[in-house]
Amino acid sequence: MAIKTLHIGLDDTDSPRMGCTTYIAALLVEKLRKISVQFIDYPNLIRLNPNVPWKTRGNGALCLRIKCEENSLEEIKENVIETVEEKSDLEHEGTDPGIVFFQGSRIPKEIRKFARETITGIVKIGDALKLLKHFKAEAVGYRTARGIIGSLAAIGETLRGDHTFEFIAYRKSENYGKKRQVDPKSVIEMDRATAPYTFNNFDKETNRILITPRGPDPILFGIRGESPEIVKKAAEMIRVFEPVERWIIFRTNHGTDAHLKPVQRLSEIEPYHPVIVRGEVAENPKIIPGSHVIFKIKDESGVIDCAAYEPTGTLRDAAVQLIKGDYVEVYGGVKPPSLPLNRPITINLEKLRVLRLAPLIVYQNPLCPKCRKRLKSMGKDKGFRCEKCGSRFPNLKKVALKLERKLSKGIYIVSPRSQRHLTKPLIRYGMEKKASLIRMIPQWSFP
Ligand code: ZN
Repeated sequence: MAIKTLHIGLDDTDSPRMGCTTYIAALLVEKLRKISVQFIDYPNLIRLNPNVPWKTRGNGALCLRIKCEENSLEEIKENVIETVEEKSDLEHEGTDPGIVFFQGSRIPKEIRKFARETITGIVKIGDALKLLKHFKAEAVGYRTARGIIGSLAAIGETLRGDHTFEFIAYRKSENYGKKRQVDPKSVIEMDRATAPYTFNNFDKETNRILITPRGPDPILFGIRGESPEIVKKAAEMIRVFEPVERWIIFRTNHGTDAHLKPVQRLSEIEPYHPVIVRGEVAENPKIIPGSHVIFKIKDESGVIDCAAYEPTGTLRDAAVQLIKGDYVEVYGGVKPPSLPLNRPITINLEKLRVLRLAPLIVYQNPLCPKCRKRLKSMGKDKGFRCEKCGSRFPNLKKVALKLERKLSKGIYIVSPRSQRHLTKPLIRYGMEKKASLIRMIPQWSFP
């Protein structure tokens, strides 16, 4: 009997009110194990461009990669379709599930390229359909079938370069919507014991626990880290006071900056794309209502607004210290112009790298040469007068004083509580993986 390799992509099964595509993947792992398939990778959780306007909550797609006997292929596909139909929020406007099956031990480079474009930009369903046809992949789509895009992208992103792992524990359905019973002290202890090999467990500025989501979804908690062993060890340290229905470890592009793509000139920036671009600060930042910071950068091709919103914490506090003439690299998603708010195209900052600081110069009246008191101006270009000794100095000029900058060169990143799934946190700098040698640990899911 021939052994076949099958890649199963899933996307857009959830809605803001229920469900989670990762949960469907977890259920499928359990079901497929019963038909004795062999998993050749952890389930892949692939976050796509977070700036697409029609995204589902986290814009995450899933891929299961398995080996199986040829005669069980149909049973596997039926299981997948049945589970997606049963567990997706199909009644919800904007939930457009998709499933893609691709058979083959190598993923064609065209599908890998399509995945890159789905993570860093905007793709069309027509592009996905062309690839499906050309490579004889099978697809099932519901409603608008837009989920087929993410499903194919999840198959195409094989995480050959940098990647991380996430351990996700799920709740029993009777607890959905209730407060999550996780001991915050155990989260802080776990962080102390496993950092820097786990990340974004809690926000040190606010002490807020970040491993538990807020919504009605089935996730109890998720722990991100550098290896399957460390996220499993970390999860075992979490004290919970409600039953865990199941858990599973995903391999993912979380925390890798996979979405950000360098752009050479400001004039090339397009709405909805996550970009990295350099420019000179064109004027001093403005603080707008809500304590958000807006500044402009320029290059020889144009000018663009950058926004650091109040919840970005440390990033906002750095941005407000910029001055005209600073040279920076900005990282973030591009918002189109918004007419009702009269806002131009804007980069919403995720990161800011300060490359060069302009001198901060203030001009002061000179001191009296006789009595050292600060002189008073007699009007523009009319010189100065001393209030103490009465002397006049028509030829003296203001003196330039160079002040110390409060900002240092270097990278500033959105505070963990406001980071996107894809944002590479500071703690991961220097830990990037160059290759993916997949080692399956003995137990990576339950039950
Ligand atoms: Zn004087």
